[in-house]
Order: sequence, then structure tokens, then C-alpha cells
Amino acid sequence: MLPEGEDLNEWVAYNIVDFVNQITMLVGTLADCCTDITCPVMSAGAKYEYHWADGKGVVVPIKCSAPRYIDFLMTWINDQVEDEAVFPSKIGGQFPSNFLSIGKLILKRLFRVYAHVYHQHFKEVVALGQEAHVNTGLKHFVFFIKEFDLIDSKELAPLHELIGRLTGGL
Ligand code: ZN
Repeated sequence: MLPEGEDLNEWVAYNIVDFVNQITMLVGTLADCCTDITCPVMSAGAKYEYHWADGKGVVVPIKCSAPRYIDFLMTWINDQVEDEAVFPSKIGGQFPSNFLSIGKLILKRLFRVYAHVYHQHFKEVVALGQEAHVNTGLKHFVFFIKEFDLIDSKELAPLHELIGRLTGGL
């Protein structure tokens, strides 16, 4: 929830950075089992496949391996986070008027990493003893995006059942 007196943009920006850090760590722990060979496409089960495009350098979506997709994604997000015009680093800095739509796009794409990890790498997550940690991370992510309506529910479809279980059918 938005803390009393906190600016919504600032709160969303702060949480995005936190989610990015968590997901970066998660991806790091899975680096040995999420490779071009094991994951030649960025998928979330048999029904969902993601192709990379950033709307600027890459306009026509590229079909690529999961690690490549995630690499494109994290680089693109880092570029946004480090851009002072998008994520002002000073407290009370001016956010662009379209900040929430940029934030929504970042969150929508970040969710795909969770979708990929749960569908393709959950065994490894369990083997690494990270299950509770990853579930907590996803739960926080979902509560956050639901609180501020930041991701379309159709985007959450790949993890629909799990999200229902983790959040008690929110
Ligand atoms: Zn993978």
C-alpha cells in the first residue's frame, strides 16, 4: 500500500528497483540451468512464448532463448532506471508525466521472468532451497501490482492458479 504522504510515482519506482534486484538475483542463481540449450525460447509452459522487442532499437519482435530475452530485458530496464529523466535519483525529483505507463511496461515484462522460472525451473528452485524465498518474492510482486492495478490480469494468466493459491484468490 502507498505509505501516508508518499508520492505514487516515487513508491512505484522504489518498488520496481527492489523487484529488479530480487529478480536479478534469482536469474543469477539459475544461470547454470537456464541456457540457450535448455531454454531455446522464452516460454512459460506450452501455451506462452515471449518475443523480445523494445519499441526503439528492436521494433520487430525477436524470437530468442530465455537467457537472451532476460538479458535484453534487464539491460532495457537498467537503461530506464539509470535515466534521470525517467527515474529521478533525487528525493522529490520530477517524474515524467508518463512514468506510470513506463512502470507498467517494466512490471509486465518482469513478470515474464517469474512465469518462465515457475514453469521451466521450479525443480531447480526447490533443489536450491529457494522455494519459500521465490514464493514470497512473487507474492509481494502480485500484491503490489494488484494494489495499484499495474498489470492486466490477462498477462498474469501463465501463473493464474499459483497466484490464486499464494494470495488466497485475490
Ligand atoms: Zn530457462
